[in-house]
Amino acid sequence: MSESKITPPATIAVIGLGNMGRPMGACLARAGFTLTGFDMAAASREAFARETGGVACVSLAEAVAKADAVITMLPNGAIVRTVVEEMRPHLKPGAVLIEMSSSEPTGTTKLAAEMIAAGFAFIDAPVSGGVKRAVDGSLAIMAGGDAASIDRVEPVLQAMGRSVFRTGPVGSGHAMKALNNYVSGAGLIAALEALDIAKAFGLDENILVDVLNNSTGRNNSTEVKLKQFVISETYGSGFFMGLMAKDIRTAHKLARELNVEVPLADRCADLWDEAAEKLGATADHTAVRLAVSGKP
Ligand code: NAD
Repeated sequence: MSESKITPPATIAVIGLGNMGRPMGACLARAGFTLTGFDMAAASREAFARETGGVACVSLAEAVAKADAVITMLPNGAIVRTVVEEMRPHLKPGAVLIEMSSSEPTGTTKLAAEMIAAGFAFIDAPVSGGVKRAVDGSLAIMAGGDAASIDRVEPVLQAMGRSVFRTGPVGSGHAMKALNNYVSGAGLIAALEALDIAKAFGLDENILVDVLNNSTGRNNSTEVKLKQFVISETYGSGFFMGLMAKDIRTAHKLARELNVEVPLADRCADLWDEAAEKLGATADHTAVRLAVSGKP
């Protein structure tokens, strides 16, 4: 297996061409990589070809056949396993798998061990920053895996992210990502509850957000979600409710497996699952306000 860095114009395959996979692919194309892509949805394949100039393949086998690195950007780890098992016979010898979805760390560790035993390299490299930062190539990337494999794909990661954190062994990126989204999801609920209390007291919601953003209550939701998607009632951040619920449940399960007491995560995981059930998995996650406030 060659250990040289994967640099443009090497071929990168992106599997999963949704809200994140497409803009991430566009960053790779801008950096000069040769791009192929596959998604089970024809509309996503067409959008990928249009938005990135990459080759949208009609089969997974075709998309990965010539790829030096394969990025998975799929809904969850169970789907990633199915897709990786299907692509395995078609992969280029020594290809690097970069698992960028938000998946369960224990499943990732098992899948990585199988793929590494079969002669491939495997890292997990989930991302944070949402669609906006995927578009401008400034994602935070949490890379788990051996140093040599991360070194090889560093130019690929740098094309999509502003900061690449080396989090430890494979699976550690996915653990970090789940914990990040637990803190993010809990922070959003706290901010929404504050909005409801403010409204009931007759306070101006917009002024409350300004106060929070200049005080110690500030968090990512108060900065980039409350006015933009919640108070405006546009609910269009590009991150689905079901995906947030999955991430928080992943963090919660991890706590359970490790016997860590997490009373707030207990409630938070249930709350997000209930919201996803009530409003649908593909509702925008910022619409959780409608569930929290007991509105429709
Ligand atoms: P998305 O639903 O927009 O995209 C997922 C894509 O995967 C869809 O186009 C779907 O058709 C495709 N797909 C599903 N099963 C498939 C299969 N078996 N074979 C081929 N294609 C398949 O989701 P997204 O928002 O792009 O998120 C992707 C991943 O990134 C998730 O794990 C999510 O949790 C994570 N993530 C999302 C955001 C965000 O802001 N949207 C931010 C960080 C991380």
